[in-house]
Amino acid sequence: MRRVYLDNNATTPVLSEVLDAMRPYFGEHFGNASSIHHHGQETRAAVERARESVAALLGCRASEVVFTSGGTEADNLAVFGVTQPGDHVITSTIEHHAVLNACKHPARDRAKYRDSQGCEVTYVPVDGRGLVDPVDVKRAIRPNTKLITIMFANNETGVLQSVAEIGKVAAEADIYFHTDAVQAAGKIPIDVNNIGCDLLTISGHKLHGPQGVGALYVRKGTELEAMLYGGNHERSRRAGTENVPGIVGLGKAAELAIAGFARGDATKMAVARDRLERELLKIEATGLNGADPNGGDLSGKRAPRVPNTTNIYFDGIEGEALVIALDLKGLAVSTGAACSSGAIEPSHVLMAMGLGRDRAKASIRLSLGKQNTEEDVDFALGLIPETVARLRDLSPVWPKKALSI
Ligand code: PLP
Repeated sequence: MRRVYLDNNATTPVLSEVLDAMRPYFGEHFGNASSIHHHGQETRAAVERARESVAALLGCRASEVVFTSGGTEADNLAVFGVTQPGDHVITSTIEHHAVLNACKHPARDRAKYRDSQGCEVTYVPVDGRGLVDPVDVKRAIRPNTKLITIMFANNETGVLQSVAEIGKVAAEADIYFHTDAVQAAGKIPIDVNNIGCDLLTISGHKLHGPQGVGALYVRKGTELEAMLYGGNHERSRRAGTENVPGIVGLGKAAELAIAGFARGDATKMAVARDRLERELLKIEATGLNGADPNGGDLSGKRAPRVPNTTNIYFDGIEGEALVIALDLKGLAVSTGAACSSGAIEPSHVLMAMGLGRDRAKASIRLSLGKQNTEEDVDFALGLIPETVARLRDLSPVWPKKALSI
């Protein structure tokens, strides 16, 4: 059976060049990067080359890149690393759970913050398009605000926040600004100095690198307390023997992403995504999540987005049922964040954007990767309209045309 994968925001396939770059570090180059002998020096050099590549992707210095086990750890390190008991944190209602749960985890009261009230958190809302208003962020600032953490690109809708404006707000108030750029990295160019952030998260497996590796950009001078206790790895910011093959893979993925921008890959991807979206929106009672619900005509009312993602509701169907029906025919899409698939609750992101429960549950996300072709889009377009129609026919709540005549 032909299989087409349009769930690249969950994870991307590792590019062959990335795998080729990683392979020697599972075999002949096996040294511990902290060892002082030949084998260690070899892998140390590879780790530092990868650090340079990641720094080039983010527009920062290599010394400002801290390798982690992925986006979740980098998000946690940013939140726990700069806050202290009694600090106030500002985040948004649409963050990934790696940020949301780090902000609210009871351990902040129980362990590190045993004798205190932990940190207070303000969740700024988003509008119908999923956009945070920087004015709301500014308004939420208190004398004890230590950290603003607002994501760059949303994993469910692809909507891009005005991070540079939020960065200005943070800088003016002398507050640390972290942005989770897991879904932006590799899809759009990133420059930490344009954003004005102090901390920025990326994850290998979202940009055609391996799973289980990521990085946190930490601006020079940021006072970051390590979360893991152990050796002095990563300049004492993240203890633990480096995942050399993973780091090499992330470095290669970063290089390939930079080359892809120069080639215009993002524009090509946006063309394919836009065609997919345009055709799907011709189905009756569908709509784009990330457009202004009061805007009538969708054109011009859309929020800025990464080039690979679309999130669409099909009234009268269950998103989960559509995902399963499409999977049976060889098309992989999703209802939103992979880690909450199977959850009965509708997406917190779509609910925060003001969608009703039914519409939020009737939504699916389609996300393209570098491996996808126009033929893959054709394949999806050959399946989705008929599957939506079939599910609607089966639905007891969907008005049947025959009955309404
Ligand atoms: N942040 C965002 C926006 C994500 O989409 C994800 C993964 O889905 C993460 C953080 C977590 O990254 P990782 O899977 O590398 O832990």
